[in-house]
Amino acid sequence: MAQQIPVIIITGGAQGIGKGTAAHFLDKGWRVVIFDQDAEAIQACRQDFSNPGNLHLIEMDVSCESDVISAVAGALQWGGRLDSVVNNAGLADPDTGPIEMLELAQWQRRIDINLTGAFLMAKHTVSHLRQSQGSIVNMASTRALQSEPDSEAYAASKGGLLALTHALAISLGPDVRVNSISPGWIDVRAWQAHAPANPEPLSASDHEQHPSGRVGTPGDVAAMVAYLVSPEARFVTGQNFVIDGGMTRRMIYED
Ligand code: NAD
Repeated sequence: MAQQIPVIIITGGAQGIGKGTAAHFLDKGWRVVIFDQDAEAIQACRQDFSNPGNLHLIEMDVSCESDVISAVAGALQWGGRLDSVVNNAGLADPDTGPIEMLELAQWQRRIDINLTGAFLMAKHTVSHLRQSQGSIVNMASTRALQSEPDSEAYAASKGGLLALTHALAISLGPDVRVNSISPGWIDVRAWQAHAPANPEPLSASDHEQHPSGRVGTPGDVAAMVAYLVSPEARFVTGQNFVIDGGMTRRMIYED
């Protein structure tokens, strides 16, 4: 029997890291389903990707359970199978201001999208992933491990994702592997639908403060996603992988 083309769902895949990851998997010949809440960004994807036959786009909100249920059903109907899920959708700006001013609704929105969305996606895809012996990758952040001021909601949502990752790995093994990636500074402006056409170039010091010598790209993260969902990673589950050009290993003291 001919081997079937694998199918991957990427949430928040219409822009940024998710879009870069979608491009990577389309180049590898996978069938890619993008879930995203931004209609304009979805429309831009239709024009930007040259292989529409392998791409399916669904507008939805990962924090809404009925949206997740119908989007997963749509993905299965289109793809006929499901091999991997990348829970990447998120409100990516960590700064929510001083804790005294942080509204409960603002806190809740970060948790609902960045953390509860990944739970809902796991809940409603796991039966299909079991059939394919597939895997889940959760997009966390180095902010799960270290902080700047005024980022409590974001940090808590990403720290929760690391815990959700190992809890799921233990519950779903050996059928389904679950890992997370913690990106550092990834320059996504060229991959966003609403970014200015000619964004200011990053400065030399932006790059040089990274031990790797540069700021990251969506392609750097996509390469790790590709490894984690591949058979080469069959002994890897419940882990978090930091992709930050070495920044979290750098000790910084004021002069
Ligand atoms: P981005 O804003 O470019 O892309 C995020 C995408 O998620 C957007 O297309 C947006 O429409 C979608 N989205 C947001 N809420 C959604 C919802 N409720 N339902 C469905 N889709 C939704 O951001 P990015 O920088 O590419 O970040 C992607 C992920 O990586 C996020 O989880 C972010 O926290 C994480 N991350 C990013 C960086 C970075 O430096 N860019 C660093 C660490 C972690």
